[in-house]
Amino acid sequence: MPKMIAPDKGVKQTDVGGYRYNVNRQGVYNVENRNHADAMKREGFIEASMMGAVTNAENIGYTCLACGFGSFFKKCGKCGNENERLETDGTVNG
Ligand SMILES: [Zn+2]
Repeated sequence: MPKMIAPDKGVKQTDVGGYRYNVNRQGVYNVENRNHADAMKREGFIEASMMGAVTNAENIGYTCLACGFGSFFKKCGKCGNENERLETDGTVNG
């Protein structure tokens, strides 16, 4: 079962293919099938299995300030930019 992570931690649920997914307490969506996971990726969701085990939701959620890519890590996986942690109100912490 694919595990997906929303690009925006404010997202609490999403509808895919007529099925409504709710985020769990780790910030992860457990998705029923590959088609739904692929559809969510097209919406900008991140597949957790690509990144290894998710153990701490507080570590989730960098949005690259340079290219907008939603990254698990401080260093953008797409362009290599080092990002500061974005708080939920949109300010940069640090
Ligand atoms: Zn980037």
